[in-house]
Amino acid sequence: CLLLVLLVVAVNAWRDQNQDWTKPIIVLLHPINADGRTNTQNYINGLNIANLNTAQDYLKQASQQHRDQPVALYFKLGRELKQLPPKVPTDASLLSTVLWSLKFRFYAWQQRQGRDGAATVTLYLNYYDPSQTQILKHSTALQKGKIGSVNLFASNAHSQRNTMVMVHELLHAFGATDKYDLATGQPIYPIGYAAPNQQPLYPQQQAELMAGYIPLSQSKSKMPESLEQTRINEITAIELGWK
Ligand SMILES: [Zn+2]
Repeated sequence: CLLLVLLVVAVNAWRDQNQDWTKPIIVLLHPINADGRTNTQNYINGLNIANLNTAQDYLKQASQQHRDQPVALYFKLGRELKQLPPKVPTDASLLSTVLWSLKFRFYAWQQRQGRDGAATVTLYLNYYDPSQTQILKHSTALQKGKIGSVNLFASNAHSQRNTMVMVHELLHAFGATDKYDLATGQPIYPIGYAAPNQQPLYPQQQAELMAGYIPLSQSKSKMPESLEQTRINEITAIELGWK
């Protein structure tokens, strides 16, 4: 009957959205040479994900803190892909966002191969040579489909920042939302603060990971250097299903 069909669809959609954190989580990473430069290619050829151990520990500890249990999360370096994910639209209209998300899910389906193995989340890492690109375009991840398109610098000097961006996008795939003001880029009080109850409130010592910046005053903030200067606050933990 129709009611049963609707129930099954709803349950599946709900399951798709809410991660079961008691199960091991595999994050598959596909590097892509986004600017076609030799420097970028050399970086990808030597890519080592050992430095993602810090991200693994970070998420394990955050999970321990918020849900009294660590999380079993593993990063897995996948094949290099030759095709870039569809460009994130510059205008934020609903139609272009919806079209982009459909295109992106289609891209993920097209790129997928059996030998890639099982993955909970797939992140497409678009690397750019920092000597050529000074500012990276916005990265984005989808909770539906659990895929992310992440723009990164092809340089070891940027590895800590890259890791931070990757984890931020990963948490989007698990339902966490951005916590900064879209117009100003400033973290939103209190949801975008690592320590919203701190007295005095400023300067904050850490950034909330989904707000991306450390608030120094009501109107000033700075970018954290690494994951160590960030934390996942209660609100983000609730969005992740950790509370
Ligand atoms: Zn974000």
